[in-house]
Amino acid sequence: MKTENPPDILCQTAKLPWIEFGAGIHYKVLRTSAETGDWTVIFRCAKGSGFPPHYHHGAGEYLMLEGVMDYRAGKAVAGDYGYEPLGVYHESTTFPEDSELLFTNHGPVAFVNPDMSISMILDWKFFAEKQAEHAAGAA
Ligand code: ZN
Repeated sequence: MKTENPPDILCQTAKLPWIEFGAGIHYKVLRTSAETGDWTVIFRCAKGSGFPPHYHHGAGEYLMLEGVMDYRAGKAVAGDYGYEPLGVYHESTTFPEDSELLFTNHGPVAFVNPDMSISMILDWKFFAEKQAEHAAGAA
């Protein structure tokens, strides 16, 4: 019996809206998966912005498109690829220049408070909902 493949996905990213994350960071949602929990976005991070401390409850990978990302593994510049294993903790992730990166996480990222309680979860659902909001209406 022949089964159909799922459809190809082509994201014309120039046509996607930048959605505000806050504190100088915006993103475009390229893909989310309810089946695997994967989400793929482009982050655009203004000079001087950064992500708060977080755990990767799913491995992550990125490709720097422009600028510099400074974090535990070192300074990633345009063209650099990084892989962030399941469970890693990033205390500080900063952008000393205007930067963009393609980022996929294979599960949630949990931002934590100083006492390690969770302040916010970034997962496929968060991005799927934001993507739907911005597709539905007017931005
Ligand atoms: Zn991280």
